[in-house]
Amino acid sequence: MAFELPALPYPFDALDPHIDAQTMEIHHDRHHATYVNNLNGAIGKHPELGEKSIEELLGDLNSVPEDVRTVVRNNGGGHLNHSIFWTIMGPDGGGEPSGRVAEVINSAFDDFAGFKDALSKAAVGQFGSGWGWAFLAGGKLQVKGFPNQDSPIMEGGVPILGVDVWEHAYYLKYQNKRPDYVAAWWNTINWRAVEDRLSKAG
Ligand code: MN
Repeated sequence: MAFELPALPYPFDALDPHIDAQTMEIHHDRHHATYVNNLNGAIGKHPELGEKSIEELLGDLNSVPEDVRTVVRNNGGGHLNHSIFWTIMGPDGGGEPSGRVAEVINSAFDDFAGFKDALSKAAVGQFGSGWGWAFLAGGKLQVKGFPNQDSPIMEGGVPILGVDVWEHAYYLKYQNKRPDYVAAWWNTINWRAVEDRLSKAG
């Protein structure tokens, strides 16, 4: 079984003006597609890996044969991270969460502003390419920067909400202004999708 590039759940220009259509098209159709293709290349060498989910593979990298472990880490991580990323954004997004999401945020951070500040700092402060992630670990919501395509799932966490801070995610529109991109990204968040992720995490 080969892994597949999931369709973007909205048009390329749906996140405009926060994230422009050209960036979305290149990001999804080329960057994410490349991660999927490279991951499938590794699966081709070890077909038994294709019987596992991407979460299972990344959650137990030591069980992945050494000759493809780095490929699976980088490209499998890229596949999972982006698959989540597309769904937690959407048109008419942003604002503040309510219900269960707000409760989980408020139990771990002072309030939504404190959470927003912490995740933004983790994302903006991630040196080089990587992600800012909010994830569940030990039953609590935490935020941290991750390098490259690493995922909280590699540390036993459950990724809930993440922002891609690779330059390919923002350079066309924001050039070197990563803080401006991260600030704009908050206006794209689909909080219902975030709530779904929290519910599935238990
Ligand atoms: Mn990316």
